[in-house]
Amino acid sequence: MNKVNEHQEECLNILQEECAEVIQAASKIKRFGLVGKPVNTTLTNKESLEMELGDVLALVDLVKASNLGITTEGIEKARLNKMQRLSKYMHTWEQYTAK
Ligand SMILES: [Mg+2]
Repeated sequence: MNKVNEHQEECLNILQEECAEVIQAASKIKRFGLVGKPVNTTLTNKESLEMELGDVLALVDLVKASNLGITTEGIEKARLNKMQRLSKYMHTWEQYTAK
């Protein structure tokens, strides 16, 4: 079994944290709307989700660069496969996504 090195582990730890922050930001929009602003923040819920999605993308870059074998090509292949599955099974696809 291949163990991860210290840097790879740190990248994966932060990636986990950022994914959890995306979950939290999405939940806030569902509960309080896009323009809601949690106490003690200057960002709207929409801006918070944008920030957390950007944080995840930054970590994706770091994970790709960390020699774990995670590649842009592998991610893009998975992304396209997911879009294809969603187009078949997502209830609102036709109404909101198909042009
Ligand atoms: Mg974050």
